[in-house]
Amino acid sequence: MIPFNKPFLTGKETQYIQEAVQSGKLSGNGIFTQKCQAFFEQEYGFKKALLTTSCTDALEMCALLADIQPGDEVIVPSFTFVSTAIAFVRQGATIVFADSYSDNPNMDASQLEALITPKTKAIVPVHYAGVACDMDAIMDLANRYNLLVIEDAAQAIDSFYTGKEGVKRALGSIGHLAAFSFHETKNIISGEGGMLTINDERFIHRAEIIWEKGTNRAEFFRGEVNKYGWVDTGSSFLPSEVIAAFLWAQIENLAVIQQKRKTLWNAYYQGLQSVPSVTLPQLPEYATNNGHMFYVVLPSLSARTQLIRYLQEAGYHAVFHYISLHSSPYYQSKHDGRSLPHSDHFTDCLLRLPLFYSLSELDVQKIVETIRFIYEQ
Ligand SMILES: *Cc1c(COP(=O)(O)O)cnc(C)c1O
Repeated sequence: MIPFNKPFLTGKETQYIQEAVQSGKLSGNGIFTQKCQAFFEQEYGFKKALLTTSCTDALEMCALLADIQPGDEVIVPSFTFVSTAIAFVRQGATIVFADSYSDNPNMDASQLEALITPKTKAIVPVHYAGVACDMDAIMDLANRYNLLVIEDAAQAIDSFYTGKEGVKRALGSIGHLAAFSFHETKNIISGEGGMLTINDERFIHRAEIIWEKGTNRAEFFRGEVNKYGWVDTGSSFLPSEVIAAFLWAQIENLAVIQQKRKTLWNAYYQGLQSVPSVTLPQLPEYATNNGHMFYVVLPSLSARTQLIRYLQEAGYHAVFHYISLHSSPYYQSKHDGRSLPHSDHFTDCLLRLPLFYSLSELDVQKIVETIRFIYEQ
């Protein structure tokens, strides 16, 4: 059976973990953490990067930094993972769900203005499958209404957006704040893990404090203050050096990982073009593809269920994805009742195919042939 995902190990992870252990510094914000953060800042132009224990954690830090209060409204796509919403719900926010485009699961930027009220505090674009949201339109709205933009870039490492001015910028470097994931299902991994990136300098100082249990410990260790203590709210959001050491091995192989994933993605795309009933992902002109995920959209829920079964019988594990959050058992009764047909369409019809580093192009060809065979009968 070819699984849907298989975590990739570079072979250096245990060596770096051993180095971290031998250094005698195992808690957070040590040498490996700082190496990882410096890499991301330099490579992608984030003003500040802080490793976290998950993307969910990084989003929770965003909710604290945005000072979300009970009753505040936050605009979130319905077709996303629970974490995108729950980080703000924990602070008492009301989630106002945005619909997807008809041909792309990302939030439809042209529909957002109608969702803004005097209570709106933030917009949270999710770059689904690592494909950029329309960031110029979203940033423009945020500027006009004085809102924060918090990118959920969990799937978007090493992916880019080219704006009106023709400048190509990394996802996670555009919003005021952004959150990444290094969960084992993402492109580069540390088992569980994540990162907060801060592009609006106003938030850097406070982010370091919230990261370190509400203390100014990071400043103290840099020698900027002569004692440290409790100065703000916060939690223990930073990962141990063991996690950062693992991540460093992955970062060293980022280019190779990305190349392989994009090759597999392209093999699916080429192979499945012109197969009846199978709609391929649409990449807007402003977006790049980081090879995070290959999905297809089928005409109906029953067509998808059938294809999952056929692929299963042929030895391939394909999986559906999110179930619209506005109709989830937890949030349904709190949702304002608007229907979000595009989100529901992707809930029913989107199917993700196996894509991981050790998958071969031959495997992809076989999966493609299986699908072609089914639909060309
Ligand atoms: C994976 C993912 C998350 C959660 O990441 P964790 O690191 O597991 O907390 C959040 N949002 C999106 C869009 C994701 O894909």
